[in-house]
Amino acid sequence: MSHNIQEKIEHLRREINRHNDQYYLLDQPDISDMEFDMMLKELQDLEAQYPEYYDDNSPTMRVGGGITKIFPTTAHQFRMYSLDNSYDFNDLEDWEKRIIKTISDPVEFVAELKYDGASISLLYENGKLVQAVTRGDGFQGDEITANVRTIADVPLTLTGDFPKRFFMRGEIFLTRKNFDKINKTRTDEGLDPFMNPRNTASGSLKMQDSSEVRKRRLSAVLYQFVGEETPATSHWELLQKAAGWGFKISDQAALCRNIDEVKEFINYWDTQRHHLPFEIDGIVVKVNHLQQQKQLGYTAKSPRWAMAYKFKAEKAETRLDKVTYQVGRTGAITPVANLQPVLLAGTVVKRASLHNEDIIKKLGLHENDYVYVEKGGEIIPKIVGVNEEKRTADSREIEYIKTCPECGTELIKTEDQAIHFCPNDLHCPPQVVGRMIHYVSRKALNIENLGSETIEQLYREKLVENPADFYALTKEQLLPLERMAEKSAQNIIDGIKKSKEIPFEKVLFGIGIKHVGETVAKKLVKNFASIDELKIATTEELIQVEDIGEKIAESITEFFNNPENILMLERLKSYGVQLEKGASDNEVLSTVLEGKTFLFTGKLSLFTRDAAEEMVEKHGGKNISAVSKNLNYLVVGEKAGSKLKKAQDIGTINILDEQQFLDLIGEPV
Ligand code: AMP
Ligand code: ZN
Repeated sequence: MSHNIQEKIEHLRREINRHNDQYYLLDQPDISDMEFDMMLKELQDLEAQYPEYYDDNSPTMRVGGGITKIFPTTAHQFRMYSLDNSYDFNDLEDWEKRIIKTISDPVEFVAELKYDGASISLLYENGKLVQAVTRGDGFQGDEITANVRTIADVPLTLTGDFPKRFFMRGEIFLTRKNFDKINKTRTDEGLDPFMNPRNTASGSLKMQDSSEVRKRRLSAVLYQFVGEETPATSHWELLQKAAGWGFKISDQAALCRNIDEVKEFINYWDTQRHHLPFEIDGIVVKVNHLQQQKQLGYTAKSPRWAMAYKFKAEKAETRLDKVTYQVGRTGAITPVANLQPVLLAGTVVKRASLHNEDIIKKLGLHENDYVYVEKGGEIIPKIVGVNEEKRTADSREIEYIKTCPECGTELIKTEDQAIHFCPNDLHCPPQVVGRMIHYVSRKALNIENLGSETIEQLYREKLVENPADFYALTKEQLLPLERMAEKSAQNIIDGIKKSKEIPFEKVLFGIGIKHVGETVAKKLVKNFASIDELKIATTEELIQVEDIGEKIAESITEFFNNPENILMLERLKSYGVQLEKGASDNEVLSTVLEGKTFLFTGKLSLFTRDAAEEMVEKHGGKNISAVSKNLNYLVVGEKAGSKLKKAQDIGTINILDEQQFLDLIGEPV
């Protein structure tokens, strides 16, 4: 029997590792996320049940899934300094002169790429990753170990002859390719794309759900050993050793015998950096010998033995052809500068974003102006100025459009926003498509295989115009579409059919009522059990619901006042889409709380109030809103006030803390 278990565990580990490689390295997942999650859950359960088969290298150590609510602040045992910056070779030579004043022996340098991401400090004890902390202010940072474990480049266990306890520092970053992929998924789901890889990488490290972090496919490179005992005499040697223990160190780092070799390295990467699969913003030069590093020491902010060399943001001058306007999926208008093609940072630039009318005004942009474009950390270059000397006398100032370029409707601009909107959400083509893309997205109806390109094609072919049309699609209609194989067509049809089982709250989110996000949809469903109930709800009734204010209430009433929306809902209903709270939403986990009433008070820390109330319902209990004789249990968090007092006064009410509540329902946290 136990032999079988062990085999099963090992088999699962192998399979999961294989799928992980498929996902990370080859980028061809051959099972769905859900199947993967199920396999993983099975392995996690088995490992919990049979701890004798524990293995540090099990993929369960890597794939995340834990939720971290707060990232504890942790002091750095060794301060994480910043780096002094230099911007040209003069600065660099000055630095060398300062070094020579202190050190008479020849000085070697290590030149490294300056990765543009988020720095991290990893603590290894006995060859195991035990803690990962962000740089923070250099003295203390946030502990994000669970999230860092999901990064494939970070070794969880080391091999070879490593020191017992030490820190490895490095950078977490996103490759351009993975950044683009994240943005593709986001736009497919109707979300705004992220601005640049650096912010996305550091933002990802702070996500609460580590399995979401894993999906971001972050990369890591390690470039600094720090410890009480150092098993080498130079930085270069330490890097090689670290590579031997299993760390991913930079392929591009180079040992330079003198500052001229450093300059060569810089010149090379200044032009070649655009061919790297990730972004760098400069070069870091470090004195190689540790003894010399020690002699040089630190200033208040940075080591004297290291120097960052920042590349100049590249700038080019070119002519503005014209300004065009894009209509986003939410109706937001983005002006775009169409430029005479110009070479910038290794790519040909033809367009630059102008963001909004205010920015155009600030630049004082005229038709056919010569403009300066710059590429900073952002993917899309921006216009940073105008060469007014080259402006012709008759050139007119750019005048912002008044009507939507897609549908001709007059644009609106609200006081508090810099952006113009097209208000024709039901018939403006990009908005129509956007609404359908939102409908099929993962957090809504989750229709897999139906991507934004397919939806755009279907719309162009006049096969779909609103979410209800999906349910009338046939395989025969799909097959003639570009790049549509028999199998994908069948998958789409199956996916659409399956979406009829998606619970009401997700459908409510999916139909895209303005301001009704995921959370609001959930709250609405708690109070209105069907779309028909919601439809007749008055503003007064709506604002009774927690978190729902006038703005949301108004947009809900407006939605239901439109006959086209009503028609769409009728059709969705006729196809069998869940438009009321079904039995499955009231999924019963147990009946242990049957006949019992609950109220939560104070600041809860183990779960949110929503989650708690949901648990009560799923275990057969009932939530009530006030302390009275009818209350059976009061669950108190921190700083509980008058309700607790009242309950104590009544005397018959059971008072529980959060853990006792969990024990009561037998739910693990
Ligand atoms: P700065 O933020 O400009 O003070 O630059 C210091 C930062 O550069 C460090 O906190 C690291 O995150 C980052 N960095 C990137 N690559 C390297 C590298 N090869 N060596 C040291 N620091 C690096
Ligand atoms: Zn429009």
